[in-house]
Amino acid sequence: MSNVLLEAKGLKMHFPIKAGVIRRTVGYVKAVDGITLNVYKGESLGIVGESGSGKSTLGRMLLRLLDPTEGEVYFNGEQISNLSNRKMRPYRRDMQMVFQDPYASLNPRMTIGELLEEPLLVHKTMNTKADRKKRAEELLETVGLPKSSYNKYPHEFSGGQRQRVGIARALSTKPKLIIGDEPVSALDVSIQSQVLNLMKDLQDEFQLTYLFIAHDLSVVKHISDRVAVMYLGRIVEIAQKDSLYETPLHPYTEALISAVPSTDVTVKKEKISLKGELPSPANPPKGCAFHTRCPHAYERCKHERPEMTEQKDGHFVACHLYTDSSPSPV
Ligand code: SF4
Repeated sequence: MSNVLLEAKGLKMHFPIKAGVIRRTVGYVKAVDGITLNVYKGESLGIVGESGSGKSTLGRMLLRLLDPTEGEVYFNGEQISNLSNRKMRPYRRDMQMVFQDPYASLNPRMTIGELLEEPLLVHKTMNTKADRKKRAEELLETVGLPKSSYNKYPHEFSGGQRQRVGIARALSTKPKLIIGDEPVSALDVSIQSQVLNLMKDLQDEFQLTYLFIAHDLSVVKHISDRVAVMYLGRIVEIAQKDSLYETPLHPYTEALISAVPSTDVTVKKEKISLKGELPSPANPPKGCAFHTRCPHAYERCKHERPEMTEQKDGHFVACHLYTDSSPSPV
């Protein structure tokens, strides 16, 4: 039996840009532009990139909250990217999402009990109100909230507590996969590590597989086994966490890591500043999409897109520096 839980093959999401009175398509925003990826059972895969890199769009496509322009998604070996909503329903139970903003993702008019019971009703996993209530109370205890939270409303809780409710809601259907879309970035730094620790504990307890999306490499480091770095809709580097943090290969990853503050005060790190802003995904640079900001860019980078190659065991990078024996500087 395969140990791959989720597989993406050549995934693309190109949003049309409409203009004029008749709303003609005048171009496309290439939010995700060809991603092939495996997520293994029980692992925690971090996806990192700046805002606009396409990481959240990727997460939504993997859960079939968005239908890809091109490419396929497989869950437990079954292709799910072409399933109707009805056929998709049993898979939805197995794949849940924890959203970034615990304020916006919980309906303020529903009690915590109703919010936790709603997925059980939708998926018809528990028939009686008493069973659903029992399960909701269990879930509250699982995420470290008192049973008495059941009759309260979201506004009665802090941000960290609301995110615990969001996690409990995601767990309610006993999923195999949880996609966290920046689940701690709206929280105070002091609360972030508590929520991350909780998610780590829950992963061990329930044998969950995580895809953890973040813009901050320090957040992903804590929770990931492997990390993928995205730039303008593509993965530019993917590796085991230690390999990526200790020996980053892609110049973009190097820059991101240099910006993470060191926990060791005796280590002086030099921050690599990138030139300019992230280019628009509606008009990405030709060749290597990073060449307009890369400190090592040379002529070939402007014309030819680098392919992903394996440089060390399980450490892949898309950069000409690793396939070209004598790069000539621009
Ligand atoms: Fe920089 Fe060229 Fe490598 Fe792209 S391919 S990251 S521009 S050196």
